[in-house]
Amino acid sequence: MKSKLKKHILRMLSENLEMFYPEHKNSFMCPTCMKVIPLVDLGKISEAHIVPKAAGGRLKTFICHDCNSKFGSKQDKWFGDIINIANDPNLSVFSSAIKDGYFIIDGIKINGAWEQEQDGNFSFYIHIDRNSPQTNELINNKFGGKPPNIKMSVPMPILRNKRLVDIGFLTAAYLMWFGLLGYSWSLQSHLDRIREQITNPDKEIVDSNFLLTAKSANWEPWIGLVSLFDDTVPAFGLKSHLVVLPPRDRPNYYESLRTFEADVNLSDIKPLKLPDKPFYGPPLNIIFENRLIVHTKPSKNAEKLSHTILYTNDSDEAKILRPIEKENFDRLKKMENAKYVSIKVPNA
Ligand SMILES: [Zn+2]
Repeated sequence: MKSKLKKHILRMLSENLEMFYPEHKNSFMCPTCMKVIPLVDLGKISEAHIVPKAAGGRLKTFICHDCNSKFGSKQDKWFGDIINIANDPNLSVFSSAIKDGYFIIDGIKINGAWEQEQDGNFSFYIHIDRNSPQTNELINNKFGGKPPNIKMSVPMPILRNKRLVDIGFLTAAYLMWFGLLGYSWSLQSHLDRIREQITNPDKEIVDSNFLLTAKSANWEPWIGLVSLFDDTVPAFGLKSHLVVLPPRDRPNYYESLRTFEADVNLSDIKPLKLPDKPFYGPPLNIIFENRLIVHTKPSKNAEKLSHTILYTNDSDEAKILRPIEKENFDRLKKMENAKYVSIKVPNA
């Protein structure tokens, strides 16, 4: 991204942040670790691909430099590879670019490299210099003279790291929402556990049941609300994967998901489209019928600027509502054709 555009977007995010925290002027708050960085420290703020660049991701957002390098060596590394495989019918997990530098023959670890050739056969290279004399002797015995009769196994780091791939999907989902809604999304306190999981990809903080598959889908990355299992929640779709995120009024949403199967029918999903332009301006709420899906309390002086996007079950188009003065509201509330609904904001 050109540095002028980067500065422009960071400026909008900084004004957005100030509507929640007036004390953080001219600053960026990393959406994943919540570190506050003054805009003058531009080098500490990184552009991050929402879907890893290696997997053709073009959508970008901003995170701090530390988070970006951590994700690059953890979740993004595995996530990018698995998406490439999913995109290309000619690839399999065997073609993963990430392979461990060893394989196992008759239970003995041998340093070397392997690849799968176009005909489907496997080739192995054994690094004589990197194995002990005992191991080399074993290799000689196995392969010397007569055709070898050996039991061989190949490590599949990409399968062993399935959990990091899952966290990659969660990270992309969270960041795409931040990319669209800015701090109206990332300052929601009920997402603390999600952030903790994203910034500690090796730990088991939330179960992987946030990731569902819809076998017949092949989505470009999208975010929106989905009505699924009689519930409406924020979601992210990519290829045949669906990530669901806890709505504001259901912080423990994943606990209730535990009993559901991972494969969903496309017809069970009713996606509600969000506007596709970033909304870094006034604080934003998202309401579905009488449920609070996205909400962060703005600062006192920004309260009257906040907007609400309202979805109803009978349409996938949203209505944008702006706040009005109390007297006007009380007058409208009493009108004959008015329907008055009160939605309780859960405690932080
Ligand atoms: Zn960070």
